[in-house]
Amino acid sequence: MQKQALELGDMPSDEFRKYGYEIVDWIANYFESIEQFPVLSQIEPGSLKDALPDAAPETGEDFGDVLKDVDKLILPAVTHWNHPNFHGLFSTSTSSVGVFGEMFAAAFDMKAMLWRTSPASTELEDVVLDWLRQMLGLPDEFEGIIYDTASVSTMHAIAAARERLNLRIRDDGMSGRDDLPLLCVYASEHVHSSIDKACITLGLGMRSLRKIECNERFEMIPEKLGQAIEEDIAAGYLPICVIPTIGTTSTSSVDPVDDIADICEKHGVWLHVDTAYAGSTAILPEFRHHFTGRVSSNTNNPHSAIGNPQLSGWERADSIVVNPHKWLFTPFDLSVLHCRDLNVLKTAFSLVAEYLKTSDESTVKNGMDYGIQLGRRFRALKLWFVIRYFGVEGLQARLREHCRLARLFASWVEQSPDFEMMAPVPFALVCFRACPRVSSPHGVSSPHGVDSPHGVGSPHVSKGSSQSEDKLNILNERIMNDINASGDAYLSHTKLNGKFTLRLSVGSIRVEERHLRKVWDLLQRSLVGRDE
Ligand code: PLP
Repeated sequence: MQKQALELGDMPSDEFRKYGYEIVDWIANYFESIEQFPVLSQIEPGSLKDALPDAAPETGEDFGDVLKDVDKLILPAVTHWNHPNFHGLFSTSTSSVGVFGEMFAAAFDMKAMLWRTSPASTELEDVVLDWLRQMLGLPDEFEGIIYDTASVSTMHAIAAARERLNLRIRDDGMSGRDDLPLLCVYASEHVHSSIDKACITLGLGMRSLRKIECNERFEMIPEKLGQAIEEDIAAGYLPICVIPTIGTTSTSSVDPVDDIADICEKHGVWLHVDTAYAGSTAILPEFRHHFTGRVSSNTNNPHSAIGNPQLSGWERADSIVVNPHKWLFTPFDLSVLHCRDLNVLKTAFSLVAEYLKTSDESTVKNGMDYGIQLGRRFRALKLWFVIRYFGVEGLQARLREHCRLARLFASWVEQSPDFEMMAPVPFALVCFRACPRVSSPHGVSSPHGVDSPHGVGSPHVSKGSSQSEDKLNILNERIMNDINASGDAYLSHTKLNGKFTLRLSVGSIRVEERHLRKVWDLLQRSLVGRDE
């Protein structure tokens, strides 16, 4: 059915109600029955595009028809991040109250540039980020700001680090200046690619980024960092920022932030901590040691981790990024940058055009002053809903359960003769691989295709020749591709010291033990009948 071409105004409210109720029912059914869908979309590249018209409709369509196309065309092209067997990358999921937050934000459609244009968003953001700061146990001098993603948060942090050095880059830029040395940024070799991209975006270039060597646990080696900084200073370069990660992307390893903070302090370098993935677990007192480098003296009260006036670990940072859209059940996107001195960002970015001038500038916080965006979405609302609905205890219970499930899965891997662990499990990410034993012609069991140095295979000894490693790489890649193609679960991978490693992340709000048992069964079955 087509509508009148010249009908003005919005959808009539009775129609909005009708479809609104239908959509809420649809989403409730979707969450209830999500397990019936293949986790990964099974469509071929380009097939959705081929099914859609090349140009926009001349006249408006009946919204019921549009919704039918959501079922028919869009749904098959969805990879279901909310599926409890989505274990790839980082398993992240929204909560229902998060969806409500998005509905309100879209209805208000405010652009939080000035306090005046959006008091609700501006003030709620301050309040909810201070709640979060307390939940994470960060000192009260930290103040937060919401960006869309960790990539953007980190880019702003590096810009702030650069601004603090008063190099006049805001006015004079970096190009064509012979008074400016190479500015250097330091992170581990396991750092997320967003740091490389931030260096590209800020005009520092990739040659400014030093990737510091890690130990066998994939953690940055502080001595190597100290050495690199000293070499750079001796060469006339200027170190501006060090970025340790708590919860790296490949393995969730934890860089030794306290030792790194000593080095930053010695050289007056900005310390930005990337905890985009694992930061949420700082709300668990028993996990706080990953962040502070010491066991909390008060494990009962999540709000008062800093019993000791002496700061340690991430408490010493200049800035910290945590992503509630990763592991705090908040729909994408919402990334939080907590800064010790948010004013540095304001010095770097505030630019008030005539049409944005208001009489209350000196008494209010205007979100546009703290970054490159002018208008900002009302993101605080969904995080406020999530924290209020679940409460700190509810959030803690869920994260705790995810970490328990990951450790349980790791224990199955450890006990299996056919699989081996590839990295420690500090949070809820398991890095492992298949290394199945096969019967040798002499009747001795040995790891798949690998000649054990002692004639008897052990799944935990380091594996043999590069050819055998090649075979294991191919085997593990095939296992992952088969499981992913089946639609039953989604795993992703990384390469650790050249070894193809399967990654299983536990983080969905809907995940239960049975989902991990299912993956474990799929993995066992994937080995049956494979002799290569
Ligand atoms: N930092 C770490 C440690 C990550 O694991 C990721 C993404 O997985 C990012 C940064 C980038 O996150 P975003 O997608 O919010 O930019």
